[in-house]
Amino acid sequence: MKLKYKLPRGTYDILPKDQPYWQFIKNTVTKRCLGFGYGELETPIYENAEIFQKGVGESTDVVQKEMFETHRMGLFEDEKEEKYALRPEFTGGFCRAYLEHGMHIWPQPVKLFHPGGPIFRYGRPQKGRFRQFQQFNIETIGNEEPLTHALTILLVWQIYSDLGLDKYLTLQINSIGCKKCQPKIKKRLISEIEPCQDKLCSDCQRRLYTNPLRIIDCKESRCQKIVSDLPHMVDLICTECRKHFMDVLEYLDELKITYDLNPFLVRGLDYYTRTTFEIYDKKDRGGQSSLGGGGSYDNLIELYGGPLTPAIGFAGGIERIIDKIKEKNIIVPEIAQADIFMIHIGARAKKIALHIISDLSEAGYRISCAVGKDTLKSQLKAANKVKAKLAIIVGQREALDKTVIVKNMFEVTQETIERKEVLEYLSKLLPNKKESEIDKI
Ligand code: AMP
Repeated sequence: MKLKYKLPRGTYDILPKDQPYWQFIKNTVTKRCLGFGYGELETPIYENAEIFQKGVGESTDVVQKEMFETHRMGLFEDEKEEKYALRPEFTGGFCRAYLEHGMHIWPQPVKLFHPGGPIFRYGRPQKGRFRQFQQFNIETIGNEEPLTHALTILLVWQIYSDLGLDKYLTLQINSIGCKKCQPKIKKRLISEIEPCQDKLCSDCQRRLYTNPLRIIDCKESRCQKIVSDLPHMVDLICTECRKHFMDVLEYLDELKITYDLNPFLVRGLDYYTRTTFEIYDKKDRGGQSSLGGGGSYDNLIELYGGPLTPAIGFAGGIERIIDKIKEKNIIVPEIAQADIFMIHIGARAKKIALHIISDLSEAGYRISCAVGKDTLKSQLKAANKVKAKLAIIVGQREALDKTVIVKNMFEVTQETIERKEVLEYLSKLLPNKKESEIDKI
């Protein structure tokens, strides 16, 4: 069959068989973040485009080349024309919400997270690089102490440990200075790179005077060659930033979180200041292999018109985490599809099955059945496939006798009971209908 419609380039479908991976990650993030006192924040998938232009930065690839922008033409007379963009990251929307909901007058720091949602970047698709992908996101807004940076990194590291990945990963860390020392750092970098600027790629030649930090981030080998001779960032940052960075590292040592100092880790977005960090596979630190990255952004809220508010955040790349989980054969919890499977044989039993399904689902059980399969054998097979724990069977005889057979699918035992007693019988067998309790039997 020749397909008339196909997926847009750089996107993918998540099929039911892959849902356990997604749920595992989102549940893990939620559990850890709630445990650390973070609140879940859901923001729109699109925002005023300026939020990202100002924050992520005009000179970054994300804004210059990769934004999915839309124009509203003022369709309704009470609206002015506005330029929106599908979010290329979470942080901008989180900071907008922080100000819009007056969170700056809440006790600080305000701790927010999102367990995972779509992000859009119109880049060139390749392995591990999509145009629509998903990130989980963590933000700690309103405190700049090294302890806050260390605690945020601890939370991130514990999430990757809960996912079973910590032994394969390394935490890379750097400090890129503050508002005060960054202009001096940029000046120094320009003077270092200027003599060999014609050897840079065309993008970096353009960036040299607007944002030389971006050159350090460039993946082109000819630019990396030049970058490798540059002075290390820790030697360029001011004394205050260096002391702050040393304190962060000391806390990480205290927590026994191992890290690699990466003097060239500057991250791809403009708003970062001071601590930057990224998670990589120990054996693979190439182009698209980062499994998550973050850092502090002390001036972003002020840039959006709020008070000077230091903050630190992190975004994890869910597709790349799933790839790693699969590559390392890590077993993720299965999603139970049904607790009870309704099996019916004969026309009369169909009507009875309808009532039982309705009553049991009303009572909170996960109940399934196989429509279009009429034999006992084919329906039992279907029940096994969804890993149902119990089957309720109504054949011709049970239909007449007003009984049902309750079959334990794991122990191969069964019992015939009165139809009107099904709910009471199940409530004894599955005393608490909460998932965790059901899963125990
Ligand atoms: P960033 O927001 O650029 O700091 O990225 C954070 C994480 O998101 C990265 O470490 C990747 O794991 C993931 N990521 C970034 N861009 C993409 C993309 N185009 N496709 C898939 N994952 C991505």
